[in-house]
Amino acid sequence: MATRTQPNIIITGTPGVGKTTHCEMLAQNTGLKHLSVNDVVKERECHEGWDEEFKSWIVDEDKLLDSIEDEVKEGGCIIDWHACDLFPKSWIDLVVVLRVGSEKLYDRLKARNYPEAKLQENLDSEIMEVLLQEARDSYDEEIVIELRSDTTEEMEANVERIEAWVKQWRKDNSNKSEES
Ligand code: ADP
Repeated sequence: MATRTQPNIIITGTPGVGKTTHCEMLAQNTGLKHLSVNDVVKERECHEGWDEEFKSWIVDEDKLLDSIEDEVKEGGCIIDWHACDLFPKSWIDLVVVLRVGSEKLYDRLKARNYPEAKLQENLDSEIMEVLLQEARDSYDEEIVIELRSDTTEEMEANVERIEAWVKQWRKDNSNKSEES
């Protein structure tokens, strides 16, 4: 049984779907900490080098998990990453899978100057619902939610919904802070 007094949330989805934007807004509104796995991988060197074709780091998952274990176990983290199956189930209270339409995703990735192979791979991954499936395979279905992130209005509604969930989680788990 987890003893954390703040929840841990994963915000996942294909690159460009809006993870960082959601996480920043959520962190600001809830006081939870935005844990950008991208930044951790880079700054704490949890990688085995740079993949030139895909212009991304080759992540060393064991090193990454060791590096974030203490802070995540303490609770209060919003984990921002385009994968979710590596995090132990016991660490996580909610998994949000963001989704976006192909045309919007294409425009967002194009604006980032993604190489063609990387752009296509991500478009395919979104169409095939790879991240949604990964989340459903890795966590209990009642903690996985799928939210649309095509427009600013949708993003604001998503953030409001997750904020309400955080508020409820805190209420439901308030006895833990009294016990500790
Ligand atoms: P990710 O972290 O998933 O790669 P970002 O949060 O960096 O995605 O978003 C990619 C781009 O798309 C940014 O320019 C962001 O402003 C824009 N964006 C993300 N979500 C939305 C949304 N729901 N509506 C409009 N623009 C969005």
